[in-house]
Amino acid sequence: MMHSTEVLVVGGGGTGTGIARDLAMRGLDVTLIDRGGLGIGTTGRSHGLLHSGARYAESDAAGARECIVENDILRDIAGECIRDTGGYFVRLADDDPEYFEEKYQACLEHDIPAERISPEEAREAVPDLAEDVEEVMVVPDGVIYPSRLVAATAADAREHGAAIYPDAPVTELLRDDGRVIGAAVDHGIGKIHADHIVNATGAWAGQLGDMAGVDIEMKPTRGVMIAQEYDGLDIVLNRARDPDDGDIVIPHAEQVVLGTTSVEVEDPDEYEKADWEIERTIEECAEMFPPAAEAPETRTYWGVRPLYAPEEAETGGARGISRGFFVLDHEERDGVEGFTSVVGGKLTTHRMMAEAAADSIAERLGVDEPSQTTEKPLYASQDPEQLDELVAEFDIDGPSDADVIGSVQ
Ligand SMILES: Cc1cc2nc3c(=O)[nH]c(=O)nc-3n(C[C@H](O)[C@H](O)[C@H](O)COP(=O)(O)OP(=O)(O)OC[C@H]3O[C@@H](n4cnc5c(N)ncnc54)[C@H](O)[C@@H]3O)c2cc1C
Repeated sequence: MMHSTEVLVVGGGGTGTGIARDLAMRGLDVTLIDRGGLGIGTTGRSHGLLHSGARYAESDAAGARECIVENDILRDIAGECIRDTGGYFVRLADDDPEYFEEKYQACLEHDIPAERISPEEAREAVPDLAEDVEEVMVVPDGVIYPSRLVAATAADAREHGAAIYPDAPVTELLRDDGRVIGAAVDHGIGKIHADHIVNATGAWAGQLGDMAGVDIEMKPTRGVMIAQEYDGLDIVLNRARDPDDGDIVIPHAEQVVLGTTSVEVEDPDEYEKADWEIERTIEECAEMFPPAAEAPETRTYWGVRPLYAPEEAETGGARGISRGFFVLDHEERDGVEGFTSVVGGKLTTHRMMAEAAADSIAERLGVDEPSQTTEKPLYASQDPEQLDELVAEFDIDGPSDADVIGSVQ
């Protein structure tokens, strides 16, 4: 098959589906492809915290502000793709009180509504909280169901005219005289010609970059998540200490998801899955939430963060690499026309990343229409049953919310 499109988006995670939606809403002819089912990459394997920004408030002001802005927007547009639980930051007896105070003040400074409550009040909502809780603040964290979010975003893009192809791996980028002009796609799809190609392949961005002859220095880190049976937690729990292994517990309907770790990997497809990371995550989460030590495990899964780390941006250890995002216009950066990459970021900020990438591409293509993605609700986002049908249609099969999808009675 020979196919032509104005923009070919490679990568059907949160970022790629967000870009397809944004550009299709501006009136562009868009095709989105993924090598597997949509969301098969990091998006479907994330921990699923809808960040309020409190986690980064004292260390990364810009990142924290991005999170609270996007948190508000997703509450408006994403309906049943998210769950508005609220979150606690919990300081245990051994945790530094100055760190807690610094985080609290930084939240207020960045317009993240944070409110102190007593350990007794916190225990009323979470009776199983650890005994040695000293201080608690409430922040507007929530839960993202990544499969539904990707399905609703892709369906919205399709409503605006985009063509969506899961199970369509790019094996080669077609180049002509310093310009990327299309892609060779496996599984019987053939060649797709495009005026502009977007690399939204997350942790795999370096591989697609190689096909275009540009160097994209990714430094992916793996993390483990453990889902357990536990009915009755309705609020996100964060440990109020410098980000470390095992300091977040995410509530689902009848399960909790513990996480996570951060260890650098060479290859986002082949990496070690170490038992110590599972044990440590359970132990650490159980310090704050003791049922985690005993609750029956339902699934353990791993994901790889799409961290971008050019030499000048490195700040030290794996947790120090920026979680911010970068739009790389390869014409400006490398002299390769028709090719843009978007790397880094968080699922919480995927819409903002998509808007920034779409702005850059629209400008390259001479399109004046602004982004319209902040106000209009995502397609079917109020209807969990329809969302779960879309999840099946787009072949979305991520472990992150496997217990939630299809559970509507
Ligand atoms: C352990 C862990 C926990 C996390 N927790 C959170 C959290 O709680 N909250 C939060 O906001 N963020 C979290 N994140 C970060 C977040 O999940 C990611 O930043 C985000 O999902 C990345 O989305 P993406 O679309 O950029 O990449 P991906 O979802 O990885 O999408 C890239 C897609 O490109 C496709 N692809 C690759 N190569 C090709 C090819 N050759 N041809 C076609 N398709 C290709 C892949 O199949 C993949 O689907 C977490 C990440 C990890 C690893």
